[in-house]
Amino acid sequence: LPISPRKIDHVGIAVRSVDEASRFYEGTMGLKLVKKETVEEEKVRIAMFKVGESYIELLEPTSPESSIAKFIERRGEGVHHIALEYDDVKEAQEYCKMKGAILVHPEPEDLKGDRVINFINPKSTHGVLLEIVKRYGD
Ligand code: ZN
Repeated sequence: LPISPRKIDHVGIAVRSVDEASRFYEGTMGLKLVKKETVEEEKVRIAMFKVGESYIELLEPTSPESSIAKFIERRGEGVHHIALEYDDVKEAQEYCKMKGAILVHPEPEDLKGDRVINFINPKSTHGVLLEIVKRYGD
């Protein structure tokens, strides 16, 4: 295929409280916290933990309108998405779209110059929200 992911970049887990969940992932499972940040565009507070070449991303809603808030309301806390890293998000999304996949955003979202992301609708992926991501640091 003309496109291929490099790796699983992260697994995103929807939680009610990033601080409370962090105590488990750090204190009990021994994961190393890399950063905590609020992503206004997605109305979430995030904690990133490094696991080898990949991350676990905890997502706490910062607003009842956040898609994470709606997810927790419907299904409770749990795995929310899986992120695959591609060299070029625009190229990856256009290829997926050409193959019939439903994108969440029409164009890739640039998150403060840190990373570029888009999502593929679970209807296209057999039930899992898939993120496609490129980090500028890499
Ligand atoms: Zn993510």
